[in-house]
Amino acid sequence: MRLHFSSPFRAWLDALGAQRARLLLLVSGSVSLGLLALVWSFTWQRLESEKALTRANAQVQQQNLTAIISENLTQVLDRGRLMAITAESCLDGQDKGAGARLSAMIAADRIFLRVALYDEQLRQVYASSSGRDEPELLTAMAEFLRTPASQGVARLGLAPLPLANEQAWQIPLMVPVLGPRDQPAGVLLLVLDLGYFLRLYHHIDIGRTGRIQVLRLDGQVVAEARQEGLVLQSAGARNPNLLPVNQPQGAMEADLYRDGRTHLSNYQQPHQMPFRVVVSREMGDILAVHQATRDRFLGVLSLVSALFLGASLWVTQGIRRQARYTAALAQADHDNRALITQLEDEKRRAFVMASHDPLTGLPNRRMFNELLSSHLQQAKRNRKHYALMYMDLDHFKQVNDTLGHHVGDLLLQAVSKRLRTVLRDSDLIARLGGDEFAILLTALERADDAAVVAAKIVSELCKPYLDLDGHEIQASPSIGVALFPRDGHDTDALCRNADAAMYQSKRAGRGHYTFYDASLNPADARLFNLAQRLPRAIAEGELVLHFQPKVNLSDYQISGFEALVRWQHPEHGLIYPNDFIPLAERTGAILELGDWVAEACCQQLASWRKQGQRLVPIAFNVSAIQLHDSLLPERIAQLLTRYELDGTLLQVEITETCLVESMDVANTVLHQLEQLGIHIALDDYGSGFSSLAYVRTLPIHCLKIDRGFIHDIRNSPDDAVIVSSIITLAHNLKMCVVAEGVELVDQLVHLKTAGCDQVQGYFFSRPVPADEASSLLNRPSLAPT
Ligand code: C2E
Ligand code: MG
Ligand code: MG
Repeated sequence: MRLHFSSPFRAWLDALGAQRARLLLLVSGSVSLGLLALVWSFTWQRLESEKALTRANAQVQQQNLTAIISENLTQVLDRGRLMAITAESCLDGQDKGAGARLSAMIAADRIFLRVALYDEQLRQVYASSSGRDEPELLTAMAEFLRTPASQGVARLGLAPLPLANEQAWQIPLMVPVLGPRDQPAGVLLLVLDLGYFLRLYHHIDIGRTGRIQVLRLDGQVVAEARQEGLVLQSAGARNPNLLPVNQPQGAMEADLYRDGRTHLSNYQQPHQMPFRVVVSREMGDILAVHQATRDRFLGVLSLVSALFLGASLWVTQGIRRQARYTAALAQADHDNRALITQLEDEKRRAFVMASHDPLTGLPNRRMFNELLSSHLQQAKRNRKHYALMYMDLDHFKQVNDTLGHHVGDLLLQAVSKRLRTVLRDSDLIARLGGDEFAILLTALERADDAAVVAAKIVSELCKPYLDLDGHEIQASPSIGVALFPRDGHDTDALCRNADAAMYQSKRAGRGHYTFYDASLNPADARLFNLAQRLPRAIAEGELVLHFQPKVNLSDYQISGFEALVRWQHPEHGLIYPNDFIPLAERTGAILELGDWVAEACCQQLASWRKQGQRLVPIAFNVSAIQLHDSLLPERIAQLLTRYELDGTLLQVEITETCLVESMDVANTVLHQLEQLGIHIALDDYGSGFSSLAYVRTLPIHCLKIDRGFIHDIRNSPDDAVIVSSIITLAHNLKMCVVAEGVELVDQLVHLKTAGCDQVQGYFFSRPVPADEASSLLNRPSLAPT
């Protein structure tokens, strides 16, 4: 039969797990066996103690019976002795009524069958009934009279027992009858009716094997009674096992009758009597009831144990089978999962292989097209600008041909890495094949942002690749940009247009990006290209600083210089900042440029100091992007330390736009610069919207009035009023005022009248190279002649 557990139990087993189920089995099996052993041990002890109790009870019972019988026998014999005393009177003949009294005593005592009195010559003097005196009897009486009384035992004799079975219950006893000097003068023969005596104990249950025996001291059986009645003993029958001689009473457990059975025997010698009363019973008989109970008990217990063990075995087998099933199921489940995982991995790998470029890990053309169309769906909903760029590497074929495909592969991998760093996570990059990449810029706020990103990509990819299998490679991309929805509403149109734009870029030369919509391309392609080359120009030292003096209107002394950057291009000559600064700001190159300018200022001051030149502060322009670089003050502090300059020798010019965007960081940076001793000037003031009330909360020391106000100051009363009020307000706020773009003496006169502190402009000097600036410094004054 199979064991089937109910489903909750099976579920519990399943949850338990095969290992734990085995442990549970072991523990519960041990506990069950332990309990069983405990029950057995308890039962066994209980049975043993019951057995001992039964034996003890039987012994007490037998001992009591022995004592009662002994006592009764003593009483009977005492009555015999009393008769002997009465018989004394009979024997000396003085008391004529003695015989009658004896007869009366016998008549009252049914235990004596016959009483006969014999004198010293063994002549019968009295007899309660007629009877023949056997010669053995007379011999025994003669012997009895001759035998002296033994110590401690009453003089009482046992005459030879009758041989005939029908008289076997008649026990002839001899009691001495004393004469006047207490000498035996005769014998009183008392025939005891043992049957009558022992019948007194008939009602006592001594068991099937119980015996009551009266033994002579030498062990001869005088009488024996059993449950079925008096046992006839032939004369001289002896109890084969001798009882201890010296002990008047006791108990023993032994094979007393040599019949192969153990008997419990109690014996007692009545006081001063030559008898012993023995009550014995077979142990088997005594313990029969107990044995039956014990057998029944053990039987039931064995049965229960067998059932219990059987049930345990059954349950164990069931649990083991269940545990095996569970383990097999778990294994199958595990195998299935492994298989599913493997299949999923395979599927994923297959998908990745089918949808990705193995060299760069980027999505391939197929995948890109899918992603592109899903993004365009989204683009239609969120109304943002999306830009699709097609890009390839200029002269990539040459790299492959000259340095080998391995280096070409490394270059492609490096390019894909750089693209990832420049782009946001939300933008898509794919390798369409060969050196061709596609990029999708997602969710742009303005279409112009695409140009910023494209410029960044060009700038990043133009940086040299320093170690491609030991080769240093200079590469550049050509990018074509198509905008959604402007240049196409679906993938096909966008891809086609981005591709066309890319070829346009290629035609324009290396390292370009071109919008499909020509109106988005920078007007001056030459300057635009220059801006894209700017990072290299900085690195290759093509930038120079020109210095324009700021002149005190009080004494026409040079109070400082403004450093203005120029690009000394090897082909295009000197290029002015308005042509490349805005693009540098959009591509982020402004940070590098700004650092270069700050260091160049410090170098110039250090150089003038070395030449023994009088030092005046040099102001340099800082764009809004730089002001959001929280590490700027730290870098400038390092420069001051490196060139051992005081912070007051540097000034920083910021425009109003710096203050409009994210004031928190800018404010901190400005305060940190002020801490270094650097003065801050607000450049082109008036061209923006900052109020002086707002400016006063910032650490600004100087206002530079935008040259737009100065230009028409003579002809425009408005401008004149504005300039005058700016000067008054600035002075109230403890700021100095510099007027920019002063070209004419009239402007100078006007400004001097209005209380302006300093001026800067072509009137005194154009921005000039360092050596010319130095000679300007050497002039005692720049006063107009
Ligand atoms: P800016 O800071 O207001 O500099 C003054 C500009 O006015 C200079 O043009 C200067 O040559 C020009 N200027 C000076 N006096 C006169 C004058 O009398 N008449 C006229 N018409 N112009 C005069 P520049 O050097 O072309 O610089 C243009 C702008 O480029 C600067 O304006 C400044 O905003 C920016 N710039 C120049 N150098 C740097 C630089 O190193 N870093 C940053 N971020 N911007 C710079
Ligand atoms: Mg300036
Ligand atoms: Mg200015």
